[in-house]
Amino acid sequence: MSEETIFGKILRGKIPCEEVYSDSECIAFRDVQPQAPTHILVIPRKPLASLKEASEKDSKLLGHLLLVSSKVAKAEGLQDWRTVINTGSAAGQTVFHLHLHILGGRKLDWPPG
Ligand code: 5GP
Repeated sequence: MSEETIFGKILRGKIPCEEVYSDSECIAFRDVQPQAPTHILVIPRKPLASLKEASEKDSKLLGHLLLVSSKVAKAEGLQDWRTVINTGSAAGQTVFHLHLHILGGRKLDWPPG
């Protein structure tokens, strides 16, 4: 990725976040504009712009991110939740550093808008 995104700045400690989980591969923090009572983002330390840029060599990392999202959701006390990855602007992606949304704490409608 050429320009540092807001999540790159969060990873480098240049801007603050409310962190809820961290390990050698990823961090999780609360979304600044929550769309549900629980809204957490899980991001890899590796600067992948989106799922489009991920390849076979990221298989382990992608699996890890999913398992971390589940661990974090359970630690938040959620029984049910939604995990979302917006990929590309037309799908709603606004920050071009791969991230998983964890949304829960209210009834979530389907299909999304
Ligand atoms: P996207 O629309 O790319 O799927 O999701 C980006 C998310 O990042 C949005 O839900 C937005 O509220 C969140 N976000 C944007 N800037 C910041 C920030 O500086 N701090 C935090 N914690 N979340 C942010």
